[in-house]
Amino acid sequence: MRNIFGPIPKSLSLAPTLAGRLQQIREYRDISREDLSQAVRFTTQRIDDLESGLETWLSATDRQVLAKALGVEPKILQEVEHKPNLPQNAGRRKEVIEDMVTAIFNGANELECPDCGNIAQCSLRTGFDLNDKEIFFPKAFCLKCPFVLIWEG
Ligand SMILES: [Zn+2]
Repeated sequence: MRNIFGPIPKSLSLAPTLAGRLQQIREYRDISREDLSQAVRFTTQRIDDLESGLETWLSATDRQVLAKALGVEPKILQEVEHKPNLPQNAGRRKEVIEDMVTAIFNGANELECPDCGNIAQCSLRTGFDLNDKEIFFPKAFCLKCPFVLIWEG
């Protein structure tokens, strides 16, 4: 595998996400996923996860090796990383969602997004159940990321 690259030309407008950018630079450098995975000692599955957006940020070490293998400055990758600032384990997430639901019932209309920490817009909607009884259900969506609150009662 080649390991000396010229700079990425300014005319190439870089993708706004880590997934898009990794794939774009890899293709621009004409490196296969297999070659890249060998060069950085990640599994091809991990490269797939990164390029499909399942992984959205890199540890400093991983970023360094990926950037080197792709012939770019680490900051080119870092600037589009998206690091959730809350723990992602399912139990904790459920608690966070339940707290959001409670807050919305109490009238909150802006809360911290559990995925990215930006503002999630919240509202309490009214509807009717099958017996025509009025019901309330909370809605929330993030202004910055794809987070949508799904509340099943
Ligand atoms: Zn968000």
